Amino acid sequence: AGTSMEPALLFFSEEMNQRAKEHLRIESELRDALANGELQLYYQPKVSLRSGRIVGAEALLRWRHPVRGLVSPGVFIPVAEETGLIMELGNWVVEEACRQIRAWQDANLVMPPIAVNLSARQFDRGLPQRMAEALQRHAVHPEQIMLEITESLLVRGAETVIAIMNELVAMGLALALDDFGTGYSSLAYLKKFPISTLKIDRAFVVGLPHEENDCAIARAIVMMAQQLRQEIVAEGVETMEQMTFLRELGCDQLQGYLFSQPVPAHDFERMLREGRRL
Ligand code: C2E
Ligand code: CA
Ligand code: CA
Ligand code: CA
Repeated sequence: AGTSMEPALLFFSEEMNQRAKEHLRIESELRDALANGELQLYYQPKVSLRSGRIVGAEALLRWRHPVRGLVSPGVFIPVAEETGLIMELGNWVVEEACRQIRAWQDANLVMPPIAVNLSARQFDRGLPQRMAEALQRHAVHPEQIMLEITESLLVRGAETVIAIMNELVAMGLALALDDFGTGYSSLAYLKKFPISTLKIDRAFVVGLPHEENDCAIARAIVMMAQQLRQEIVAEGVETMEQMTFLRELGCDQLQGYLFSQPVPAHDFERMLREGRRL
């Protein structure tokens, strides 16, 4: 809907033409997916390196396409961002996370905070209001939700972004900076933003403890986070060696296949009930 083939498209190279068509196809199918309930949230536990207990989870979007099967968010999120559909998608994610948290709390589960990913485009003046409404609709306490944002947001119009962040934090929502280390944030720069958690990108965890550069980067990030009194989460932890190194560095939490892949809600619920430990 709303997309017309412009005459300019005629001048695209065949490859660009194909890509544009692919995007249009994904966009229209994604609209159907929202309407037809093909979207689902998976949950990946975050584990404390001190206690070994589950202290949070990240909600990750999954698309069960009726023909193509499971489509990776790496494929459809970028399309949704380009087309603007990310707003609807993002609203669905927040709504679904709140609904699920309410259901779990009604079933007497003690819930750690659940993090949802936000695209930069969702980060507008209306965001605090939209969050407040979703929380209210499901009677979910703001401390049950954490928002994961990326560095690209920090370089964009800092004043407005800081104002929106402050509003969210004042409401009781915590902010985590995702994929840290892949962008350009310096210590001085980071200090300006009310961010409580840094997530070290998997790109630097992969090489631990053998790649010297990755070790140096991980060490620098942890030291910086400690200076800023931020919690630090390492993403993509797959081996005991990586875990041991990160624990010795003073990293707070671990997320990765070593503990668990992202899993459907009922599997995450079972892990919580069983009090599964690292
Ligand atoms: P991300 O936010 O950095 O999420 C972490 C990704 O790493 C997830 O991929 C997760 O499945 C994967 N992962 C976790 N542990 C490991 C590990 O030990 N090894 C490896 N190899 N991978 C691991 P996923 O679920 O495919 O999501 C990809 C990206 O799509 C996310 O990266 C995020 O940027 C985006 N995304 C997912 N859900 C949403 C959403 O609801 N909203 C928005 N805006 N973006 C989302
Ligand atoms: Ca994330
Ligand atoms: Ca990440
Ligand atoms: Ca990442």
